[in-house]
Amino acid sequence: MRRAKLNQRLKKLFLAGIILGAAAGILFAVLIAGNISSKKEAAYKEANADLEKKNQELQLQIDKNEAAHNNTEVLAGNEDGWSLTLVNEEHPLASDYVPQEMVEVEIERSVDVRIMEDLQQMLDDAAAEGLSMYVASAYRSYEQQWDVFNATMQDWISQGYQPLDAYAETKKSVAVPGTSEHATGLAVDIIASEYEALDDQQGETAEQQWLMEHCWDYGFILRYPPEKADVTGIIYEPWHYRYVGKEAAKEIHEKNITLEEYIEGD
Ligand SMILES: [Zn+2]
Repeated sequence: MRRAKLNQRLKKLFLAGIILGAAAGILFAVLIAGNISSKKEAAYKEANADLEKKNQELQLQIDKNEAAHNNTEVLAGNEDGWSLTLVNEEHPLASDYVPQEMVEVEIERSVDVRIMEDLQQMLDDAAAEGLSMYVASAYRSYEQQWDVFNATMQDWISQGYQPLDAYAETKKSVAVPGTSEHATGLAVDIIASEYEALDDQQGETAEQQWLMEHCWDYGFILRYPPEKADVTGIIYEPWHYRYVGKEAAKEIHEKNITLEEYIEGD
């Protein structure tokens, strides 16, 4: 039991090392997890080296990429365009960004105050239609995103995936810290009360059907639609809604495009 716990802790440390790109941490964890075979250890080390490289690239992207600074500046400002800030793998957000003013839409679920009125109206109108839904996730800090990413990656590893493959699988459904829209305070995950699973079936609920049909009226878009994973880099997420403002939401909805396509088409 203690051994299992220790391994669990080491695994956590190991993954912490991977994601943060802390070379010393990775080696420490791999060497101490002594019960893994030397062959496996070699494979892990190799995977680590690859992941470390990826992380260094990502850190560089976040720290030095002009896009992150531009994004953060635009989002924090009040000029037109703040609601159109594109955050994805190529367009990260500064890891210390915190919305200037946040407000709770539900207990422990905060959003940027600038989207609150429209969001609340959307939720109220849905409720008036007899639908039952709740905000399962809203603003997430860089650290919180890291926790979500780490937990998902551990799930894949416990299913037998190698770290590098687990990392790739995780990335399909969880944004790498620094590249998550949840850090903007403009994105919410809304879940049907009667069907809480985060899978494609969520999209079949009356709640999601209503949201998909009406969200643009309130300035929101279904951010990761089906058939657009190649553009967004994220699989179909029928629960993830992003505020872009009413004008953009209408056009994105009518043209059946993504935020990426909307911005690049400008
Ligand atoms: Zn989400």
